[in-house]
Amino acid sequence: MTTPIYTIGYSKREIDGFVRILQTHEIKFLIDVRSSPYSKYKPEFSKQPLTEYLKENGIQHVFMGDTLGGRPQDPNCYTDDKIDYAKVAQESFFQAGIERLHNASQQGHRVALMCAEGKPENCHRANLIGPRLIRDGFEVRHIDEIDQIQTQAQIEARLTSNPPQTESPATTTDDVQLDQILADVFGYPHFRPLQREIIQTILVKGDALAVMPTGSGKSLCYQLPAMLFSGLTVVVSPLIALMEDQVLELKEWGIPAVYLNSTLSAAEYGTTVTQIKANEPKLLYAAPETLLRPEIVNLLESCPVECLVIDEAHCISEWGHEFRPEYRQLAGLRARLPGAVTLAVTATATERVRADIKNSLEIPAANVFVSSFDRENLVLEVADKVNGVAQAREFLDAHKDQAGIIYCSTRDQVDTLTDDLVRYGYPVLAYHAGMEDETRRAHQYRFRYEDNIIMVATIAFGMGINKSNVRFVLHYNLPKNLESYYQQIGRAGRDGLRADCLVLYSYSDVSTIRYFIEQEDPQLRPGSEHRLQTLLAFLDANQCRRKPLLSYFGENYGADSCGACDSCNGQTTTGESAADTTEQVDLTAQAQKFLQCVQETRQLFGMVHIIDVLRGSRGKKILAAKHDQINSYGTGTEYSKDQWRQLAGQFVKKGLLQRTQPHGSLVITPEGKTVFDGEVFMGVLPRVGLKTTAPRAAQEYDLALYEQLRTLRLSLAQERNIPSYVVFPDRTLIEMAQYFPLTPETLGQIYGVGARKLEEYAPYFLPIIQTYCQENEIQPIKHPIARQTRGPRRRSAAGIKRTELVWELFQSGKSLDEMVAEVGVKPATILKHFRNAREAGRDFDSPALKKLSSLTTAEEQAVVQAFDEFGPMRLRPIFDALEAKVSYDQLHLWRLIYEIMKNDA
Ligand code: ADP
Ligand code: ZN
Repeated sequence: MTTPIYTIGYSKREIDGFVRILQTHEIKFLIDVRSSPYSKYKPEFSKQPLTEYLKENGIQHVFMGDTLGGRPQDPNCYTDDKIDYAKVAQESFFQAGIERLHNASQQGHRVALMCAEGKPENCHRANLIGPRLIRDGFEVRHIDEIDQIQTQAQIEARLTSNPPQTESPATTTDDVQLDQILADVFGYPHFRPLQREIIQTILVKGDALAVMPTGSGKSLCYQLPAMLFSGLTVVVSPLIALMEDQVLELKEWGIPAVYLNSTLSAAEYGTTVTQIKANEPKLLYAAPETLLRPEIVNLLESCPVECLVIDEAHCISEWGHEFRPEYRQLAGLRARLPGAVTLAVTATATERVRADIKNSLEIPAANVFVSSFDRENLVLEVADKVNGVAQAREFLDAHKDQAGIIYCSTRDQVDTLTDDLVRYGYPVLAYHAGMEDETRRAHQYRFRYEDNIIMVATIAFGMGINKSNVRFVLHYNLPKNLESYYQQIGRAGRDGLRADCLVLYSYSDVSTIRYFIEQEDPQLRPGSEHRLQTLLAFLDANQCRRKPLLSYFGENYGADSCGACDSCNGQTTTGESAADTTEQVDLTAQAQKFLQCVQETRQLFGMVHIIDVLRGSRGKKILAAKHDQINSYGTGTEYSKDQWRQLAGQFVKKGLLQRTQPHGSLVITPEGKTVFDGEVFMGVLPRVGLKTTAPRAAQEYDLALYEQLRTLRLSLAQERNIPSYVVFPDRTLIEMAQYFPLTPETLGQIYGVGARKLEEYAPYFLPIIQTYCQENEIQPIKHPIARQTRGPRRRSAAGIKRTELVWELFQSGKSLDEMVAEVGVKPATILKHFRNAREAGRDFDSPALKKLSSLTTAEEQAVVQAFDEFGPMRLRPIFDALEAKVSYDQLHLWRLIYEIMKNDA
């Protein structure tokens, strides 16, 4: 008789429990048959720590992913991009792997084949290796997800009676699994606010509406569930560039996705339809008008659509600024896809539009998720526009080699500014609706695909730009209102890294906006006027700029200071006040000179005019007003225009002067009067000349290595014809240049490195980092993730918080149902939190726990007896012994009670 060969998947198991199972079955060799021996989510199952831990427990770890991993590199093993096990089985490397198993077994070694997948039926252990070993006359014992031994035949029976596809993900996905997918597939360490809640709602097929600002991560809320659904997720989006970018990005993560829109050729269209029919893609992106075509509706009806996502859902509302009648018809499509849950997402702020979406899609109030509109990583700044080009150059110099957008209000302005900046050598491209289609598209393409292009554009540009590393947005002209401003700056910093947003404020722009309002339909005017006032309140703010901004979106910004706006920082990217020095000096004389000029011009003019007078300008306006004849004329030549701007900005900000409506004239306040009369005024001296070096945030990473990595990223992106941020976001490169990972394992801990990208890109990035470290004698630094996740009992911060919440609810005497409702998870998860709380040292009292039980006394006795008989480790035997009369939820509860009773006894 041969020695049986075991298989096991670690899945959600903790390392110590995992080893205990191996020991129960007297396994001496753990044969690793994953295609790569790393796990980001469960680092303790990565090669080195795993080998060490097993060794301590008398088990040897043998990696055989190169022969039995099931996912070979060889393209011959794939049919239509899908792994074909029949082909793999024919390969010589596979034969060699099987050969080694024969030898081990002949020598009487007890081995287990290990993979990550918990259920054998979903894994190549039972679909590739198992059948082969059976044929070769071995006994195969699959240890399943609940630690039961299953024969190959039993697993095959499971496959036919209960194909994994039909299983509802709702019953199998919990917090832990979601964290695992986020880390392993996307490479992200945490969910952003509301993502988890939205995903859980979708997975239990609850229709939902997500209102979150641009860049906050709405896409992940449907991309992740799409991987768990067996059928298709259809994303309706009006934005073609966005579809393309997301499909490329998904492919990089290893998630099959396609799109249907007018840019596809007939052949491409046909191929895509065939793929959809074969249920290959997980996600389909399409424009609304495409989706409503009868043949597409028929197609979708014939395949299992599990989720319908309505992107830019405000287009459904007539109250929105982008109403699209086709969107209204999506309700009809929905009716024809009864198996699909609907998720509507939008960044639209107004209450009325939100309500409209909710009502027209009949989304339950409980499933409307509205996140804060605060984007902490955006640094907000407003500067008076005195010399636009010089100010723009100064700002660009502070963002050398970075991608950004400059918004102008007119096409002429775009062309003029582009010419000016090109002359100074900046990598700028123009974009507006008046250009040739082809040029415009080419410019947009370069902006998306390269990573240091500056786009000078009208507001026509930016919708659906998915680029994650836009590092700045400069408003060369005022935005129309706060809503557009917010949408436009939202395109910066999607990767969560700092991005700078500067508005150049000129009162002539205000006049232009006002002029347009006056041309409007009288009925619309009060609304527009109100929006202008809120914009001005933001621009003129003497307090944290987030207060007026977020209050526009109905949010109350509670903190006194955000630390990321010019009002709060005093430190700005263009250095209006204090970029070089914050030393306060006596500026009384300068202030008096300025105030004098304001006084003499009868408090009727704005900042630019006053500065011109002080500097002795011969401009038409000055001469016409005869301001060349007043005392102040030409008395301020010791400072440049730009320096006066810096000074005047301080006078306004510190309340000596106030801007008034409607022309932005400066008037002297009572405080200004006291300075005029001799009170001392302290402030910061203006800088001399334009700065050429950037006042960047302190760099904690190696710039030289970062630059090398960037170059590599760009060439990899170009080879693959994908945008460079799709290869890796900036943050990933920054972390590489900060922690210096030298092995696949440590590279996998870096932000944004999921399993697929690790496999694809480690061979390029590691050698560069290795060489760099060698040449510069640099030692790698441990990544915080590795520190957090050391040891078997790792839990996320959010998980710990939740455990605390559950504990509190339990203490306050809530029932299991109430806890389920309040925490929004399944009973089994509540019980898992109980176990965590107990492990964390919380004392449970068994009578209180018994109150949560719904069993009769007789059943309780039977349960306890069964635990006595079978032990508390596995629930399945107990469930069976009680003839499935007691639910697993109750068994989980009773296991805890049982353990506490035994402990106390
Ligand atoms: P939105 O659709 O809300 O404008 P996106 O979905 O495009 O924003 O997300 C912006 C960026 O943030 C994307 O690059 C996305 O991959 C990334 N992202 C999403 N969720 C997370 C997360 N939990 N951690 C880190 N990055 C994330
Ligand atoms: Zn602030």
